[in-house]
Order: sequence, then structure tokens, then C-alpha cells
Amino acid sequence: MPVFTHPEFDHHQQIVHGCDAASGLRAIIAIHDTTRGPALGGLRIYPYASEADALTDVLRLSRGMSYKSAMADLPLGGGKAVIIADPRTDKTPELLRAMGRLVDSLGGRYVTAEDSGSSEADMQVIAEETAHVGGLRRADGESGDPSPFTAWGVFCALRSAVRHGLGRRDLEGLKVAIQGVGHVGEHLARHLHAAGARLVLTDVDREALAHLAEELGAETVAPEAIFDAEVDVFAPCALGAVLDAEVVDRLRARVVCGAANNQLATPRMAERLIARGILYTPDYVANAGGVIEIAWQRRADYDRRAVMAHIEGIGATLDELFARAGREGRSPAHIADAMARERFGRG
Ligand code: NAD
Repeated sequence: MPVFTHPEFDHHQQIVHGCDAASGLRAIIAIHDTTRGPALGGLRIYPYASEADALTDVLRLSRGMSYKSAMADLPLGGGKAVIIADPRTDKTPELLRAMGRLVDSLGGRYVTAEDSGSSEADMQVIAEETAHVGGLRRADGESGDPSPFTAWGVFCALRSAVRHGLGRRDLEGLKVAIQGVGHVGEHLARHLHAAGARLVLTDVDREALAHLAEELGAETVAPEAIFDAEVDVFAPCALGAVLDAEVVDRLRARVVCGAANNQLATPRMAERLIARGILYTPDYVANAGGVIEIAWQRRADYDRRAVMAHIEGIGATLDELFARAGREGRSPAHIADAMARERFGRG
């Protein structure tokens, strides 16, 4: 399996394959860039069809973390880890401890955290073997769930996008469609409701949807109808690759801002959104609230107010990004990538 010529290679600094026969561990840790600091990125546990698929995923995700941390102004680089295993059947304490030893062998160049297939409880097990773990339950007993912080960041991002895309300074009466009211979407809906926005919600989980909609007096639509909703803002908070050509052409919203990762189905969708007069908020800038809070957990001077202020900085970063996109006549997605590369010295 070629690495240096892999399409997602992008000059990764280090790629480590780890194996432990006793526990069945087969893992890859990718460290994309440590210019700004240790490479932080979650641990994904997934039954990849092939080793090649696992390598592609870990390279793509670790590169993404360099961009996300740089735009969140964190003293961190980008990395990611994957274990080739089914989290429902193969995730044993022995496997996690072996992973902890692998992470530890890198001496802090890579710091792990939760991702799909791994939980806060798994991080506790990994922490038995290494100190290089984020996203743990804090000493005060508060959950390590990053979603409330992510949602606050998306809310701040949305305020900036609405200022730039709609010329509005407040959210009173603004209509927002949220796709997915899971961990992040639910918190986002509450922030928007409190700010006076009117909500159109959807989710495949009808029960959770009905509950929240009743509480917030929100309208609900079927999952497929969310793209046609007559709203000002579309907030994707469910799946990746949601913005394909068909969806971009259907959207009625003038602003897109949500938590989902990798929202653009292809990079070309950034131009298609511009052609339709829709302001797109780069996903990894908007959804960095969780990683910002995890980064603060590594500091001895953790302070919740400072964390929230740092997350609110996402709004200022986007103000700068949207202004530059306007000046240079480029898409916000393009400018976000350029700004991130400048920040980790590959501009
Ligand atoms: P979640 O699984 O808790 O919520 C996703 C929700 O979307 C669920 O309620 C699910 O039922 C719903 N859903 C799935 N398919 C749908 C569809 N076709 N139409 C409508 N609803 C659908 O996940 P989450 O933690 O809230 O994360 C949401 C998105 O944000 C994900 O893409 C995730 O990668 C991204 N993200 C999350 C965080 C975080 O802190 N949790 C951080 C960064 C990025």
C-alpha cells in the first residue's frame, strides 16, 4: 500500500501502524502536522473493509484536524487514529489498553480523544496506559461530552454568517432549518430559540424530534423535505456530504451553517453555493467548539468562562474569513483552507 504517493498523503509527518497479537489490535495513527503543537485528534473504531480504506480515512481525518485546530487558534497540530475493528463486538479493555500503549509510545506527539466508535468510558481505559488523552470526564464530575461546546460554537458562527450573508445583527424572527437534532442539533436549537429564531426541525428519530419541537414550539418536516423549507439559514447537524448538486440547487436558505463534518460532497460545491447566492460557513471552522474545550482541558488554568470566550472567537475568525472571501472573490471554503495553511506554516 503506497503511502508517499497516496492522494490523501499531503506530507504527513508520521504514520504509525500498531499491532498487538494478544488483543487483536490493528491500528494506524497519522500525524499530519505538529508545527503548532501536539497532534490532537479522535480515535475512530470502525470495521473497515480493507486496510487501504482505513489508511485513506485516517489520513483524510488527521489532515482535517490540522486545519480545524489552526483555525480555532489552538496550540495543537492535526492527527487521528483508527482501529480496524467492530466497536460493538471487538472493543475489549485489552484492545483499548494496547491502543493506550501505542499512543504512549509516541511520547505526546499524538493526543487521542473520542470519535465515532469510541466513548468517554473507552478513553478512561486508554488513560490507564497513557497521559496523552483528551475528552475525559472532568474532576468536577461534569461529562466530557463536547457537544454543548460544539453547539455554542456553531451558534456563534451562525451569528457571524447571518451578519455577512443577510446583513442582520440579531436573530429575532430569523427562520432556521436544522437537519438532525442529536447531541449538537438539540443544543443549537435551544440557543436559537432563546435568541428569538423560528425553527424548522427534522430528524429520522421521530420521537426525539416531536419532543423537542413541542418544547420549543418548532415546526417539523420529514427528513427529505428539510432542503425545501422556506428559511433564512440551513443548519446541517446530521450527516457529512449533505451538500451535493441536487441539494445545493434546492436550498431556499441564503446561509448554510451547521455542525456536520465534511458538508460539501465535493470541493466544487463551494462554487455552486456562491453561484446560487448562498453563503457557506466552512464546517471545520464552525464546529470547533468541542476541540477548543478539549484543548483547554489540557491546561492547568482551565476556566469555563475563558473556554466560552475562546469559542466565541469563532465568530471573529469568521468575520475575518468572510470579509477576505468577499475581497478576494473566492469561496469561504477556499479562504478557510488558505488561512489554516498560513497558520501552520504551509501557506
Ligand atoms: P448525533 O448522532 O448525536 O446526532 C445526529 C442526529 O442526526 C441524530 O439525532 C440522527 O437521528 C439524525 N439523523 C441521521 N440521519 C439523518 C437524516 N438523514 N435526516 C435527518 N436527521 C438525521 O451526532 P452529533 O454529535 O450531534 O453530531 C452531529 C454532526 O456534527 C456529525 O456530523 C458530527 O460528526 C458533527 N460534529 C459533532 C461534534 C460534537 O461535538 N458532537 C463536533 C464536531 C462535529
